[in-house]
Amino acid sequence: MKIPFSPPFIDQSVIDQVLDTLQSNWITTGPKVKALEQEIVKLTDSKAAICVNSWSSGALLMLKWFGIKEGDEVIVPAYTYCATALSVMHCGATPVMVDINDDFTIDPAEIMKAITPRTKAIIGVDIAGLPCEYQVIKSIITDPVIQSLFTASSEKQQRLGRILLIADAAHSIGASYGDRASILMSDIGIFSFHAVKNITTAEGGCVCLNLPEAFDTASEYNFLKIFSLNGQNKDAFLKNNGAGWRYDILYPGLKINMPDICAAIGLAQIVKYKEDLLALRKAIALKYDESFRLFDWFIPPVLKDKDRESSYHLFPLRIKNIIELQRDRIIERLMAKGIVVNVHFIPLPMLTLFNDLGYNIKDYPNAYKQYSSEISLPIYPQLTNEQSDFIIQSVIEAVVAEVGLDSMVEPVYTV
Ligand SMILES: *Cc1c(COP(=O)(O)O)cnc(C)c1O
Repeated sequence: MKIPFSPPFIDQSVIDQVLDTLQSNWITTGPKVKALEQEIVKLTDSKAAICVNSWSSGALLMLKWFGIKEGDEVIVPAYTYCATALSVMHCGATPVMVDINDDFTIDPAEIMKAITPRTKAIIGVDIAGLPCEYQVIKSIITDPVIQSLFTASSEKQQRLGRILLIADAAHSIGASYGDRASILMSDIGIFSFHAVKNITTAEGGCVCLNLPEAFDTASEYNFLKIFSLNGQNKDAFLKNNGAGWRYDILYPGLKINMPDICAAIGLAQIVKYKEDLLALRKAIALKYDESFRLFDWFIPPVLKDKDRESSYHLFPLRIKNIIELQRDRIIERLMAKGIVVNVHFIPLPMLTLFNDLGYNIKDYPNAYKQYSSEISLPIYPQLTNEQSDFIIQSVIEAVVAEVGLDSMVEPVYTV
């Protein structure tokens, strides 16, 4: 059985929205982007949402907005996708990597140890869709002693008066913290709408602003819309629709706006996200969880705890007491059956760029431990029952073949 890892969700409603955009004769930033931003505000209750052409450019935009520059430090987990750290490096600043918890999210105790007077921001990553321990991180950055270390060197930094909390929410649209969207726990949260994410626009991202009262969200939104389009005071849609040909350039902006043709895909998905698409992901995650809990080699992922609920972006299967090589062999067995799996993530210090810069995986023992036992299984709304049954059976067979029957609670499974 051929089972892809994460195909995009494209039904008739997605096709209809894209066709509608094509037939409207307006394909770049315009009404569909506006509508998608409004849907994101509705879904999350954020103060404002700004769509851009990727998570990566959204992160760069917001770090620049905060005035992050050479000499500054931004704390990131060692266990994430490269973009988290690269966004910091593109500002000339230094990503300070810290280790993670057993639930894959950044370890607040390690954050505490890594804070210096040069720390300007923390980027927490909601790995697999599970929100970080934002309440704990918030209490660290608002602690009077930590706050007194903070040295502001831009107007925004002055206004905030403390370390900025950014959520890398690339995985976590639809996740919750308490009974609200988890993105509300950060000052700035950024979603990715890359093709493999829970909601996609082929390529795209969205910055959610939930800044404290000291900031005027409406004026920040206007500034960021302009800054994300070369710093131009009128976008092409306005110019074309009666605002006149003359424009001005106000800032040295970026060119990272989202086109309507892309927004159309996400717009069709987001209106059926919570009720349909997210619910289907959750059902698959719970099915995997229930099936594997029969075996004591299974390390269950945190899908939900007293504060947090995941967006079920990934199902990070982990197997007890295996080494990296055994994990790789289990992957080979699954691939041989036609099941495409993945590993989230190779810790950054194990990648050439970061290793050459001096980051060493030995400094991040838990990141390595989680990585070496992790396999991300297919999870998406289109996955059929038959396919998930086949995945479950194949995983059990592959694990038993690799680590033996000893690892089972009881010999309940016979092929
Ligand atoms: C996908 C991803 C990104 C990058 O998103 P893009 O939209 O491709 O820029 C960043 N962080 C994490 C954790 C991701 O998985």
